[in-house]
Amino acid sequence: MNEINNNNPLETAKEEKRSLNFVEQIVEKDLAEGVNDGRVQTRFPPEPNGYLHIGHAKAICIDFGIAQKYNGVCNLRFDDTNPTKEDVEYVDAIVEDIHWLGFQYGAIYYASDYFEDLYAFAERLIMEGHAYVDEQSAEEIAQQKGTPTQAGVDSPYRNRPKEESLDLFRRMNAGEFEEGAMTLRAKIDMASSNMHFRDPIIYRIIKHPHHRTGTQWKVYPMYDFAHGQSDFFEGVTHSICTLEFVPHRPLYDYFIDLLKDKDSHYRPRQYEFNRLNLTYTMMSKRKLLQLVKEGLVNGWDDPRMPTICGYRRRGYTPKAIRNFIDSIGYTKYDGMIDVALLEHAVREDLNKEAIRVSAVLDPIRLVITNYPEDQVEYFDAVNNPENEADGTHSIAFSRELWIEREDFMEEAPKKYFRLTPGNEVRLKNAYIIRCTGCKKDEAGNVLEVYAEYDPDTRSGLPGSNRKVKGTIHWLSTQHSIDAEVRLYDRLFVDEDPSSVEGKTLQEMLNPNSLQVISNAKVEEYLQGASEGDKFQFQRTGYFVVDKDSTKEHLVFNRTVSLKDTWSKIVAKH
Ligand code: ATP
Ligand code: MG
Repeated sequence: MNEINNNNPLETAKEEKRSLNFVEQIVEKDLAEGVNDGRVQTRFPPEPNGYLHIGHAKAICIDFGIAQKYNGVCNLRFDDTNPTKEDVEYVDAIVEDIHWLGFQYGAIYYASDYFEDLYAFAERLIMEGHAYVDEQSAEEIAQQKGTPTQAGVDSPYRNRPKEESLDLFRRMNAGEFEEGAMTLRAKIDMASSNMHFRDPIIYRIIKHPHHRTGTQWKVYPMYDFAHGQSDFFEGVTHSICTLEFVPHRPLYDYFIDLLKDKDSHYRPRQYEFNRLNLTYTMMSKRKLLQLVKEGLVNGWDDPRMPTICGYRRRGYTPKAIRNFIDSIGYTKYDGMIDVALLEHAVREDLNKEAIRVSAVLDPIRLVITNYPEDQVEYFDAVNNPENEADGTHSIAFSRELWIEREDFMEEAPKKYFRLTPGNEVRLKNAYIIRCTGCKKDEAGNVLEVYAEYDPDTRSGLPGSNRKVKGTIHWLSTQHSIDAEVRLYDRLFVDEDPSSVEGKTLQEMLNPNSLQVISNAKVEEYLQGASEGDKFQFQRTGYFVVDKDSTKEHLVFNRTVSLKDTWSKIVAKH
């Protein structure tokens, strides 16, 4: 788990035509052999108990990707077997996120569509001697399970008459018993080497209303009793999921064998791939819910969350996420992916898409003392050097400018090529200026910086070709607008937060994961920008307009800085 993959799969994926992943190989073989009459049907089966995260994106890309590639269909199926944790809020969000990621599903199904069929199957299992009602508590049942090397102990109810089990099961569903009073268990093998075969619980009493079926049911199937059969009912051919379900597969097959017509050739097959684990990231929905509930983040779409809606708000693009998933591939071995690779994919995509603008996050005033007081000039700023068709926009220049505080140093080290008294610097798209000094308060804080411009170095004139080592960005003070800028850093301090023990969630958080700059300045050009618009702030990073933004109060999120730590890692190897 702790091994970090430092190849650059993004490059590899681009350069060579990717070879088939193991699921694609299986599907191609099945198609060649005419398995399931050449049908390819997959599904994405989220439990609507939270928002989708980047790990789900990995599952979505293969479930939908396989269907797309092989002319099949991928349905969306909500595994809604636990009414206490599920909600339509999550259903709606999941649908929205799948669309946003760029995928189309065939149909929307729910495990609850099959409650009737599953219940009938359970009664049949009872009557065929494959299930019984157990009146022991969940704790007692767990104690009797044994260990992988030691057989379990039979329940005292294991051999009760089937009529008695059937009667109790019906009364369980009629609401006669309290939650936890009894369960329905499959009667399989208490000595099986697969723990999932040791008479697993298949139904339990839940009195909480269900978001779709209301109070119709008082018993609900366990996930393991619903999942494989739902695949079967729908006609799924390739049931793709993550590796932790490997030991569940024989149980699903066992139920399907009991369910299916003996002569039928059709059956769903499950294939498992490695789940996505990312450094500095936690993906358990339970933990993400806890972050939201305890107010440690600002909701599921907090831009620090690894949720799809969080990334969307952060300014990540669906394409960047898909490219990232494509680059890491699908294997049968669990591992940990460096989050810098995801950020790298985001930069790669935004580099092509985002319009370049100027913004000053930590403004200090620069006065061009030899520039006429009320003169204003307009310069052309290239929108995107990566794409000439994007054109230019104009940026106003005047005597008083905002520059970044860190672009001036009164006493500068030798290698400092920005503004320092006596030194020349190019103002991007405008003039070359020479710093002449600064004004300070009594405490020594710099209040204003002074410089003189050289009119012959106007951008485009021959004089502008003069060599100067530094180029800085700027804004005309009277032509800039105020903005709030939110800078995000990793939410967790630890590289592998899921493995940390003995700390509360709060203690694991990076205290500096959010920095709010309330007095940033941006170009006038951004005046009409609306939610989701993406820009590169020159020299600083990629930014997106947040949903909190209004006409009067612009708010930007930093999507990702310009510094590509992933490229650095790759260069080192
Ligand atoms: P959690 O364990 O965080 O609650 P889950 O796996 O139970 O999540 P589901 O809603 O059941 O969440 O997941 C739907 C599908 O997404 C499943 O097929 C599951 O295998 C897949 N999935 C979930 N997490 C990941 C991940 N980190 N990487 C790849 N696939 C994932
Ligand atoms: Mg699950």
